[in-house]
Amino acid sequence: LASRDFHPEDTVIQIGDVKIGGEELVIMGGPCAVESVSQIDEIAGLVKAAGAQVLRGGAFKPRTGPYSFQGVGVEGLVMMAEAGKKHGLLTITEVMTPEYVDICAEYADILQVGTRNMQNFDLLRKLGECRKPVLLKRGFSATYDELLNAAEYILAGGNPNVMLCERGIRTFETYTRNTLDLAAIPSLKQLTHLPIISDPSHGTGRRELVEPMSKASVAAGADGLIVEMHSDPDNSMTGDGVQSLFPDQFAALLQDLSKLAPLV
Ligand code: PEP
Ligand code: MN
Repeated sequence: LASRDFHPEDTVIQIGDVKIGGEELVIMGGPCAVESVSQIDEIAGLVKAAGAQVLRGGAFKPRTGPYSFQGVGVEGLVMMAEAGKKHGLLTITEVMTPEYVDICAEYADILQVGTRNMQNFDLLRKLGECRKPVLLKRGFSATYDELLNAAEYILAGGNPNVMLCERGIRTFETYTRNTLDLAAIPSLKQLTHLPIISDPSHGTGRRELVEPMSKASVAAGADGLIVEMHSDPDNSMTGDGVQSLFPDQFAALLQDLSKLAPLV
């Protein structure tokens, strides 16, 4: 179902006025994690003002260590839904377990499957039963074929609204957090009709690399970007402050990108 051989035309996922996979470039921006009402409200205003269409933010965070901040949970879903509604943005948030799919689907417009859960088959099956758009992140050591097979679980369950995300893979390089596999973008565009989103934030782990890798992703054919931005990155509650853009950098990036492809 994911293969372009059997479905030559691009899939366009329409949510409200936003079309993902069409002519326009879709930008999802926001913090790694929802922290408080004022934090997500302030950032939502900045995301909207910069011209992005989707607010990102994790309420449930898949942290490497059990003692790290795990996200504010269901309350975060409510905070983000309100901020999205108030500022006229769609929302995307990560869902980690099948049990939480229904509640996340109630509050968010797009459900994100994180890199660590790409092959959580029970979660994928549950997402196949719902009709919410899903952003499926590539596992950090998954091949294109494994990513496409993971998407196949959701599609086979009856949910056609799947987009894929390149978020960097693990290599021997340690300067960057991950190695953003730019070749994945045109490769996947050839292999599948599903929209392809790039995540230059987790793909590099370094704020100063987000702008060039965003532009490179668009040049490589990405249908959209998911970018971390924080109003106060140095005090963010996850370790992802170092890869989060400052609001003025995010706004400048979108200005530049609008010269490469139409936003909205
Ligand atoms: C995130 O988007 O904040 C996240 C945890 O991403 P990944 O699953 O790609 O690490
Ligand atoms: Mn993050």
